[in-house]
Amino acid sequence: MRSTRFASNAGGMLPALCVSLLAAAPATAAAQATPAKPTALEASVDKLAKHATVATAFIALQNDNAWTLDQQASICQIPAPPFKEQARAAEYAKRFRELGVQNVRIDKEGNVIGEIRGNRPGPTLLLAGHLDTVFPEGTDVRVKREGTKLTAPGIGDDCRGLAVVLSVARQVITQKIPFAGKLLVVGNVGEEGPGNLRGMRAIFGGPMRDSIDMFISVDGTGFGITNGGVGSNRYRVHYKGPGGHSYGAFGMPNPMHAMGRAIAKIADLEASTTPKVTFNVGIVSGGTSVNSIPFEAIMEVDLRSETAAALAEIDARLQKALREAVTEEKARWPQSKAALSVVIDTIGLRPAGSTPDSSLIVRTSLAAARTMSIYTPLTISSTDANVPMNLRIPAVTLDGGGRGTGAHSLDESYDDRADGYKGPQYVLLVVMGLLGVK
Ligand SMILES: [Zn+2]
Repeated sequence: MRSTRFASNAGGMLPALCVSLLAAAPATAAAQATPAKPTALEASVDKLAKHATVATAFIALQNDNAWTLDQQASICQIPAPPFKEQARAAEYAKRFRELGVQNVRIDKEGNVIGEIRGNRPGPTLLLAGHLDTVFPEGTDVRVKREGTKLTAPGIGDDCRGLAVVLSVARQVITQKIPFAGKLLVVGNVGEEGPGNLRGMRAIFGGPMRDSIDMFISVDGTGFGITNGGVGSNRYRVHYKGPGGHSYGAFGMPNPMHAMGRAIAKIADLEASTTPKVTFNVGIVSGGTSVNSIPFEAIMEVDLRSETAAALAEIDARLQKALREAVTEEKARWPQSKAALSVVIDTIGLRPAGSTPDSSLIVRTSLAAARTMSIYTPLTISSTDANVPMNLRIPAVTLDGGGRGTGAHSLDESYDDRADGYKGPQYVLLVVMGLLGVK
């Protein structure tokens, strides 16, 4: 899921998910509000939008908007729980092949990867939507349509992105846009929490890694550019001991009490606001009865930050606190020979990273928004783009247009309203602006 942190939009469309995170760069808003003489890059994107093939693609995306929505709805009706994206992947690969995408394959991790080659050498850009949803097997994924509104789990996150990638690929091929380099089109697995970005890790950890020059994920609705990737470290922490009768065995270290000490230390951690650092104990469990010393206490902890250094720093303090809690609980009962230990299982590591505002990929994304008179705030979130950002490969996550509500809930909806087609138009313009058309 891509969480937007900004709610205003001069273009009249609200980003889908107005939850948490930070405010957009004010300079960007001001620059977009006050028309100034276009920069060379802006002028070239203006010119690109007028290129015959791109202009024709724009008209086709508007006229054939129903095709995009049909893709979105029909993909959504194929369940894709975490680690069970296979059926949706097979269908997505089939659709790529039908469009004429070349060398379509499904890699070992389950990612669908295809290629559209330009007419001359140039950079390689990877354009992706994610196949997985947060919904378990058995979820009713039938799509309900009322006018321009589609309702179904996953309809926006990320069936919208998958549909936009298909629509962009279709126009690039149909209009024979004469671009440089190579466009890789991808439907990847494992974006949502449990997947822990496994799809992108496989792509950027495998043989393709050094051949990808730029990365765009289409995830989220409305308009926005995510160029900061929030990193997170997540742990399941177990405190373990022999346990015993609460009265008869009293006087031994108690795993639950040790965990309580740890939680108190976590609660008192100092966290900076710039860069933002957060910590959370989200789940606690353990124990069997009120009159038993538990043999195990378990908690799940989430740490996040916008920078890798700040995340590493809070992580070190967490690890120290978790171990000090053992030492202190043991010291409370010096006579006891009972063991007490802590086991820390990693359940999620999302690397932090960012693509600078001054980078070509961000400036081109802003220039395309200017050309189309839409407002695209710069945001920070946790998306597939975290992986390439962490490797310093220029990467952004773009929203796919329309308006979404209730992501990750059973009543998730996507409303295309009057101008949903601008989503794929925008992504097409950014992609072609980066690859170059002549
Ligand atoms: Zn998503």
